[in-house]
Amino acid sequence: AMMEATPSLRTVMMDSGVKGEFRVRELEKIAGTGTSETVHKEFGVRITVDPSLVYFNPRLATERARVALSVKGGEKIIDMFAGVGPFAITLARKARVVFAADLNPAAVHLLVHNIALNRAANVIPMLADAAHLARIGFEPFDRIIMNLPMAAPQFLATAAGLCRDGGTIHLYALQEEEGEYLPLIRAVTSGEVTERMVRTYSPGKWHAVYDITVKKEGC
Ligand code: SAM
Repeated sequence: AMMEATPSLRTVMMDSGVKGEFRVRELEKIAGTGTSETVHKEFGVRITVDPSLVYFNPRLATERARVALSVKGGEKIIDMFAGVGPFAITLARKARVVFAADLNPAAVHLLVHNIALNRAANVIPMLADAAHLARIGFEPFDRIIMNLPMAAPQFLATAAGLCRDGGTIHLYALQEEEGEYLPLIRAVTSGEVTERMVRTYSPGKWHAVYDITVKKEGC
């Protein structure tokens, strides 16, 4: 019925939800001849994605555009949980360089493809565990993206160490109470924090973003 209603559809998949460390979907093909790989377009960026192998959420397009608006020319950015690169490639249009790390080899494979597809030569893909990024010896970053809502708060101290004084961390988290992660944030920096709801997730739970200005004591 869906294919009849929308003749441009090639494949219809049944989705059993997002699972595991890599946040991938269990998909079952119920109609059509195609595969689960597709190209998503948002704000002039093309993202090749296969939700059976990698995480991707088109509902964050407005959020990516909001963060892109706050990027100043010449910024050095790191996306610690980059997936197939939607934040990294969008922000790279204004930034000097964006490092994009992910632990899932399939995500990094598609990220490399998407960098070429969008001619985003200033995005540097990395197959890396975010927990180890501090060991690489990076010069401090101007901006850090942390979009792993189930677990990003666990990596906040690492992110604060990677960020320059006055730099910004965008921390995405699933929460049940307003300000739930403020005590954790206050344990790593006394800088300014603003909190917004990105989208609802389930009854009583929502995807929040904390925009954190990192203030380093003694700087
Ligand atoms: N930022 C991307 C986006 O907006 O589409 C992907 C976000 S997805 C919610 C989180 C990503 O973090 C997944 O691609 C997953 O493979 C990756 N990931 C999970 N644990 C990680 C870790 N310890 N280090 C680096 N990446 C990790």
